[in-house]
Amino acid sequence: MRLILVGPPGVGKGTQAKEICKKFNIPHISMGDMLRDNVKRGTALGLEAKGYMDEGKLVPNSLVMNIAKERLKEDDVKNGFLLDGYPRNIGQAEKLEEDLKELGMELTRVINLKADSKTLIERISGRRICKACEKSYHLLFNPPKVEGVCDDCGGELYQRADDNEETVKNRIDVYTRETEPLIEFYKERSILTDIDATAPIDSITAEIIKQLEE
Ligand code: ADP
Ligand code: AMP
Repeated sequence: MRLILVGPPGVGKGTQAKEICKKFNIPHISMGDMLRDNVKRGTALGLEAKGYMDEGKLVPNSLVMNIAKERLKEDDVKNGFLLDGYPRNIGQAEKLEEDLKELGMELTRVINLKADSKTLIERISGRRICKACEKSYHLLFNPPKVEGVCDDCGGELYQRADDNEETVKNRIDVYTRETEPLIEFYKERSILTDIDATAPIDSITAEIIKQLEE
């Protein structure tokens, strides 16, 4: 199963990705997580990406395209993968198509998670992330068992630097302008499935799995 999760910031891509990847035993490839890991480790790439991320802008295509291609060459991708947050514009989608062709792979499905901007802002403002494994929690909608501690790995939870009101508005605008055109791109290729992402976490997971097993 070779999947892409698309949707605006805070719609629940990371949350759903963890469950789908567990169910189908495929790696979760999150561009945001890979970029944050580079920032944390202080790599040259991380230093270059940080300014864009802090402002809620897209990191330049040349950087993310390279990360994606290298990741897709790794062994664990042979049995499938789930891309979360990549591609995020048409240039990236075209490059991904080219890379997959070169690697002898084809996309199975693109899941489009949909929610209104009030829901996105509510979700992003209460989001907390595990420093160690990047699992995403919500103060009200999906709290950890012990406050400030990750259920899965015991890591410390923190609020992302870009999860502030100003940057969030910018990220939603960037999504509408640059990422939303992907929906038409994948609709034309007849691999797009729309999912109502305003429902509770478990019912969205069940719906995605149902659609993928059909
Ligand atoms: P994305 O990866 O799309 O940016 P996340 O998966 O990190 O989004 O989810 C954003 C926030 O919303 C997190 O705090 C998460 O716990 C919460 N969340 C995700 N899905 C739902 C849902 N269906 N209902 C309520 N809160 C949700
Ligand atoms: P996310 O964790 O998906 O919310 O991504 C966090 C930030 O990383 C975004 O606001 C962008 O600055 C950057 N980013 C993530 N994925 C991409 C991408 N495919 N292209 C460009 N920038 C990206």
